[in-house]
Amino acid sequence: MKGILSTLGEGFLDLIYPSNIYCICCGNIIDDSRPYALCDACVRALKWANERTCSHCGKRLQEDYGSDLCTDCAGGEHVFEKGFTCVEYGAAERELLHRFKYKEEAYLGRKLAAMMYDRIQVEELEPDLILPVPMFRRKVRQRGYNQAAVLAASLAKYMECPYAGQLLVRIVETEAMSRLGALGRRRNIREVFSVPRNKIDQLTGKTILLVDDIYTTGSTVDACSSVLLEAGAARVFVLTFASGANLTRAEGSTFEADRN
Ligand SMILES: [Zn+2]
Ligand SMILES: [Zn+2]
Repeated sequence: MKGILSTLGEGFLDLIYPSNIYCICCGNIIDDSRPYALCDACVRALKWANERTCSHCGKRLQEDYGSDLCTDCAGGEHVFEKGFTCVEYGAAERELLHRFKYKEEAYLGRKLAAMMYDRIQVEELEPDLILPVPMFRRKVRQRGYNQAAVLAASLAKYMECPYAGQLLVRIVETEAMSRLGALGRRRNIREVFSVPRNKIDQLTGKTILLVDDIYTTGSTVDACSSVLLEAGAARVFVLTFASGANLTRAEGSTFEADRN
């Protein structure tokens, strides 16, 4: 039943938004051979993280940057094994994600997931499970979907890998957390996520691919990774659509507050 519904759902989205007739970025008419339904100009405008990237978190690095680690990674250890991302977060990327997250254009998730699939293919990763960074239940009800879950579920289909959307949950509504100072936030964020006790077995020894829409400092995916590793997972890799190398502090905290 579920299968039928999701198939209908996708067909339905295709009717409303004929996938490959308009560029998903600028809306120009394109032919249906364009990859990810992007026109040539938008392919050129997006800042692909396919050349110099941080060897730990995958963030795009400037050509003349003198290290293999970005400043965040050079300054501290991460809990996750390694991160990958498709694009650097800039104006065009911001617009795409904004429409995907707030304008109910959930169909964009499949296009973004296709880019994420191509990005992760070259790494030859073979995860056992794909998990989204969870969103607090009330927030999911308000928005209608968790954008990370849409990406993760779609990616799992492309990768033919099991999607495990219920293994990690957000148990604390962290709007209260934004009132804490930075130190309190760091300490508290680990207590925000949890693996339901009756699901712990499913994680034992597993290689996890954790999916989110955007990576900023890595504190959220680190917190998720700690919880997953404590529950018995072997390794956690991280894949995001965009990475916010040039994100302002205000934007970074907006992204975090936004999910809780
Ligand atoms: Zn375009
Ligand atoms: Zn890094």
